[in-house]
Amino acid sequence: MTRILVLSDIHGNLDALEAVLRDAGKVDAVWCLGDVVGYGPQPKECLQRVANLPGLICIQGNHDAAVTGKLDLYAFNREAILSIQWTRAQLTSADVEWLAGLPEKVELEDITLTHGSPRNPIWEYLLDLNTVQINFSYFTTDFCLVGHTHIPVLYTYINRNGNGKDEGYVDWMIPPPQQAIKMIPRTILNPGSVGQPRDRDVRASYAIYVPESRQWELRRVEYDIRDVQQKILAAGLPSRHASRLEEGW
Ligand code: ZN
Repeated sequence: MTRILVLSDIHGNLDALEAVLRDAGKVDAVWCLGDVVGYGPQPKECLQRVANLPGLICIQGNHDAAVTGKLDLYAFNREAILSIQWTRAQLTSADVEWLAGLPEKVELEDITLTHGSPRNPIWEYLLDLNTVQINFSYFTTDFCLVGHTHIPVLYTYINRNGNGKDEGYVDWMIPPPQQAIKMIPRTILNPGSVGQPRDRDVRASYAIYVPESRQWELRRVEYDIRDVQQKILAAGLPSRHASRLEEGW
């Protein structure tokens, strides 16, 4: 059985990343869906840790892109801008080049990987069912993996009549953690966020994907939030980036 570690939105939180890597155990490949940096206090350490993981495919997120200068900062809020500028100052030009070289979308045999959405890989948030439904016509594989919203969720397109007409609807579920579920074509899956969960569960979130059996197991793991908060404050980053970690938003 092949075990693939799927993670996203690490956001410079090395403590959470290490907890996830420990909890995941031995894996055959790692798929990272973007935002390795931004918000958190250890962007350089996270970048180097991720870059050296075995069988890595890493997608570019909006924070990664902003740090390279590819995106204008006007689209971010004030505190995000502060953290992007601070992050840029921590990185070497080789680090920035690595981020700049990441793809926005990767299509494998039956699975598409992207950060925001298949329609708009860097920016679009898949939060409402209308937007999700439209996005099903922007990928052709059975599955699409996304990050960006920091919320672990599954969206499945149900075709009511099977006549090829677009008369289906989108069903969704929040998968229960530490429980493998069978993936049904066609589904968009989000593993949640390693470094800044926003579903009011403060634990780091990630998933294990087993391609042979098409199983998806969402996993949540605790890490030392206090330690990360202290590092955020010591770095002079906005205190809100520290407080939100203990509330999970
Ligand atoms: Zn993010």
